[in-house]
Amino acid sequence: MSKSFNSAFLRIQRNIEQKSRPPKKYRQRYRIIAERALGKPLALKHPVHHVDRNRRNNANTNLVICEDAAYHWLLHVRQRVLDAGGDPNTQRICGNCHLLKNFKEMNGENECKKCHNERWNANRRKRKARVTN
Ligand SMILES: [Zn+2]
Ligand SMILES: [Zn+2]
Repeated sequence: MSKSFNSAFLRIQRNIEQKSRPPKKYRQRYRIIAERALGKPLALKHPVHHVDRNRRNNANTNLVICEDAAYHWLLHVRQRVLDAGGDPNTQRICGNCHLLKNFKEMNGENECKKCHNERWNANRRKRKARVTN
């Protein structure tokens, strides 16, 4: 690795770090409110969720401090199931066809088995076409 490449790389890395750590005065209002309710500083790894999904509604009862980003993501996944009239304890919404699916119809986290199979078959057809051409 050349010296100039190295320093450019370090500069990019520093920029990324600065962006991911916003200065205090730019912090969102709801994080400050959550900290006040908590009585201590809130680490950046804890996202703050808005129960009614209105980021301007900063009432204490509307804010949920999440353990981590994965938990926050799960809250939104569950909310989407509720919005669609489903049961978040047994159902998920497929990220591809956007239909309510039971857990056993899901493939992994975000896609139903039907969509997964269709994609797999489409890929196989493409591969075949390439071989015969
Ligand atoms: Zn949220
Ligand atoms: Zn699907």
